[in-house]
Amino acid sequence: MSLGPFLKSKRSILLWIAIISVVLSGFFYQKYRDLDKNYSIIPATGETPIYAANTIKWLTRHQHPDGYFVNNPDLFDEPSILNKESVRLSRYAVETLVKLGASEQINRSGIINFVLNNYQPPSNAIGNLKGFSALPNSEVNIRATMDSVIILEQLDALGTIDTEAVAQLILAYQNNDGGFWDPGYPEFGQQSTVKATSFAVRALHHMGKLNSQVVSDERQQRINQFIQNSWSKDTKTFAPFPGHPAISSYDAYRAWVSIHYLPINQQNRESIETMMHLDELIVSLNETFRTSDKVYSEEGHSERSSLKATYLVVAMLDKLNQLKAISVPEVVQFVKGYRDPSGGFSGDIYSVYSAVDILSHLSSTRMTKQLRIYQVLTYSAILIALLASLILLALHRRVESRKHSALVRRAQTDRLTGLHNREYLEQRHSTFKDNYSHLAFILLDVDHFKSINDNHGHLAGDEVLIELSALLSNNIRKTDTLARWGGEEFAILCPATEPGHAREFSEKLRSLIEAHTFTPVDNLTCSFGVACAGKNETLRDLYIKADKALYQSKRDGRNKVTYL
Ligand code: GH3
Ligand code: MG
Ligand code: MG
Repeated sequence: MSLGPFLKSKRSILLWIAIISVVLSGFFYQKYRDLDKNYSIIPATGETPIYAANTIKWLTRHQHPDGYFVNNPDLFDEPSILNKESVRLSRYAVETLVKLGASEQINRSGIINFVLNNYQPPSNAIGNLKGFSALPNSEVNIRATMDSVIILEQLDALGTIDTEAVAQLILAYQNNDGGFWDPGYPEFGQQSTVKATSFAVRALHHMGKLNSQVVSDERQQRINQFIQNSWSKDTKTFAPFPGHPAISSYDAYRAWVSIHYLPINQQNRESIETMMHLDELIVSLNETFRTSDKVYSEEGHSERSSLKATYLVVAMLDKLNQLKAISVPEVVQFVKGYRDPSGGFSGDIYSVYSAVDILSHLSSTRMTKQLRIYQVLTYSAILIALLASLILLALHRRVESRKHSALVRRAQTDRLTGLHNREYLEQRHSTFKDNYSHLAFILLDVDHFKSINDNHGHLAGDEVLIELSALLSNNIRKTDTLARWGGEEFAILCPATEPGHAREFSEKLRSLIEAHTFTPVDNLTCSFGVACAGKNETLRDLYIKADKALYQSKRDGRNKVTYL
């Protein structure tokens, strides 16, 4: 089937444009909704995404009556359920619930009490130092302090602790090489590590203590230096500490955290990129830690894709405006693979936290742009469909009204001569009669027309009528209306014409006709009857008067003008 006939008229093109636009707008809107549902943490369409709703449900079921979060609520009653991972798990759970807009559903006082139970000075305290341990009656450490501080900050409860004392405790663990050590990781002894350094910086950041009053510029410079020294030239990524081979993708994130929040670096993203050796780092992350499914693992050249490793890379690259270095659709597909049959994330709190965080990073940047593009495309298609329909409607109306006026014109036109007919004259008369005090009506009739038909044939008679019509048309004023009254009788309605003028005018027409040579018959004459309108007279009244006068002209020998 060819499209040709469909495209023939403007109207069918517009119709196709409208139909296609409607279909396209539906398609774009579907794309928009899919993106919104799958990528946005809080979708623009106002729907809570399935994964968010079910993840919130899952997480809230995993808060122990004593406030902390656990991976397995079936073991609520086991004494071992509370262990040194509890504070860390709780931090992940709280951050995730807050991120999903569900902070109301946290047993707030429970978890605050749990955290504050572990708030104490370190065993060897000199001066006013206070921090957090992972469990009551165990040693204060940097990791537990960071987790606890973040929990309190997320719940707006930092007022319950002396943040100055906590900041001083953290600073007490900075070594001369600029890095920090953590008693929570005894395997490293007092060795500074990139890991402990990142915990220290994050804890200070969340308490609002990363400023030059608390952390001097000189201390900040030393932190920068330590991170620089941890860069491994061979593997082009960060090592756990200077001189050690680089082994974990996590250390890139930790190095970035350690320098990203420092006030001396905050103004200058480029200097952070330089300190991060960013270009080289991205290449090495992709070559060494990226797995075949285009996400990341913790260990070099391992095929074990890791949600947490992927989360750390995505979070870092997002903050560095480098998300273009990853394959967003593949990362999203990987993350979605972790959803349970309900569509939510569950299983263990680490994974839930990492998955939600990856999605939140992806939704905050590229996806928002794509969402906006599809939104604009949807609106544009609707607009085009609407415009096309409006133009279509206007065109349709124009065509209809043209058809209508053509019908009206035909109804008011005489077929043979193309002159107006009696109906039209009626209409003109009704407009004229109220607007003009003088209205003249001239009736004229061809003399002995019957003999023309008889001598020359009916067709010649017709031709005479046509020629006479043209002659009359060419010699009346613009404001006059000429019509064929019927047969060989014509009428002229002349507004603003006094009787004297109407007679003179008729006389002029009479002699014009007399002098004119008509093709088939040479000469012919007409008789005229003139009437002028009195008050409230109808066209019929006028006709009767004019016809009387015309009859008088005939009786007086024809080729005459009579006004009675
Ligand atoms: P008079 O001077 O008294 O007006 O004489 P007349 O012959 O003109 O008048 P009559 O009324 O006797 O004849 C009019 C003729 O006009 C009769 C009719 O056949 C003819 N006629 C009417 N309409 C047409 C037309 O459309 N075409 C032609 N060819 N003849 C027509
Ligand atoms: Mg007649
Ligand atoms: Mg006649």
